[in-house]
Amino acid sequence: MTEKLRPIKSLGQNFLTDKNIINKIVQSIDIIENDNIFEIGPGMGALTEYILEHKVNYSGIELDERAKEYLENKFSDINIINADFLKYNIPDEIHNYKVVGNLPYYITSSILFKIYEWEKKPSKCIFMVQKEVSDRINGKVGSKENGILSILTNFVGSSKKLFDVSPRCFYPRPRVTSSIIEIKFHNKYNLDFKPFATLVKAAFNQRRKQLGNSLKSYGALPANYKSKRAEQLNCDEFVELYQILNDKETSI
Ligand code: SAM
Repeated sequence: MTEKLRPIKSLGQNFLTDKNIINKIVQSIDIIENDNIFEIGPGMGALTEYILEHKVNYSGIELDERAKEYLENKFSDINIINADFLKYNIPDEIHNYKVVGNLPYYITSSILFKIYEWEKKPSKCIFMVQKEVSDRINGKVGSKENGILSILTNFVGSSKKLFDVSPRCFYPRPRVTSSIIEIKFHNKYNLDFKPFATLVKAAFNQRRKQLGNSLKSYGALPANYKSKRAEQLNCDEFVELYQILNDKETSI
């Protein structure tokens, strides 16, 4: 039998042990035959084992070399790529795919933004994140949870929380409650992600200030936006503001 891995804290290794929760997560992926599934950080394969009960094309992207070895010993013919997901790209020949994973919490936002930047988006993502991060991803306009994560998520798609997961379901136990979220994508705005994200980040980095101040470097703002604060805007309004500022720039 393969020896279990000693968890490495700096890699965000809290291994999921609760079989009911594992089942619920894998069910929410809605696997269909021949799905292309990419798992971020499979670790010791808590989800992987149940995913592989289906006939799928599976790839795991795992930074910990020990985990790659562990998984290759445990499952025959498994495709584990020993890499940092933040430096990984979906192969060109794959067009329809899902991304899943119990995310390493220290890089949750970077993982999300990386996927949001991709031209070829997944058909859906099922992720475990900290509950507090799920609240921010699903933050409502006017609330303190409305921020960079909610606006940028709504820019590329929509998200919903499926259920919470108690710290008791892991080894070692994390200090926080976790949530499972589903993200699906749309192409409603058809604009570049990066410059839009730069504007949204500038607005929220000084979230207490009025937009007229926090976005000073963009020049004069339209009167209806000047005295508002970032959290009072929804994604449509950010897009409108972005387009007004962009048109102004191109007409100079
Ligand atoms: N999927 C396993 C489970 O549910 O028990 C492990 C989840 S654990 C919360 C996060 C996993 O992500 C760990 O296995 C860790 O080694 C891996 N990881 C951390 N940083 C990573 C990165 N930059 N790229 C890919 N995997 C990473």
